[in-house]
Amino acid sequence: MAVRPIRLFGDPVLRVPAVPVIDFDRSLRKLVKDLTDTMLEASGAGLAAPQLGVGLRVFTYDIDDELGHLINPVIVTRSDECQDGDEGCLSFPGLAYPTSRALSVVARGFNVYGDPVEIDGSDLMARCIQHETDHLDGVLFIDRLDAEQRKLAMKDIREAEWSGGPLVVKESPHPTYGTGR
Ligand SMILES: [Zn+2]
Repeated sequence: MAVRPIRLFGDPVLRVPAVPVIDFDRSLRKLVKDLTDTMLEASGAGLAAPQLGVGLRVFTYDIDDELGHLINPVIVTRSDECQDGDEGCLSFPGLAYPTSRALSVVARGFNVYGDPVEIDGSDLMARCIQHETDHLDGVLFIDRLDAEQRKLAMKDIREAEWSGGPLVVKESPHPTYGTGR
């Protein structure tokens, strides 16, 4: 079992588009295993490779006890019908906001052995596929929030313990003799 640290919002790696997997080799199998172990340990519904600092187009999911992964995913169909529900992310511990997503999607990609795979997902599965595929493009769920929710999210993030707390004005290293704040 290899649980690895999850990169948190603010880490630039989360904003870098990931590159397609070319070699379906042992190191890819290790990556899928690490993603799976880390996701399960964190009780997440999905985890994308950039969240472990790896810039490859790979994600894992654990939806309704169905454990899986998808490599080089492409969403080929999105329903016009949308779902509204709270969405969170392991890179934003403890935070969740209503996020509009397509109700169902069809995604194509490959399994770890290089075999083509198609996933026809709705509800949570569809939400997960959209969320994780976004990660591979450097897009985060807060980008999908409406303006009001995003404002709320940014405030919560600034106040979150993991984000280093609120921005603090750097204090002068020189004595201020009581005139400083
Ligand atoms: Zn996420």
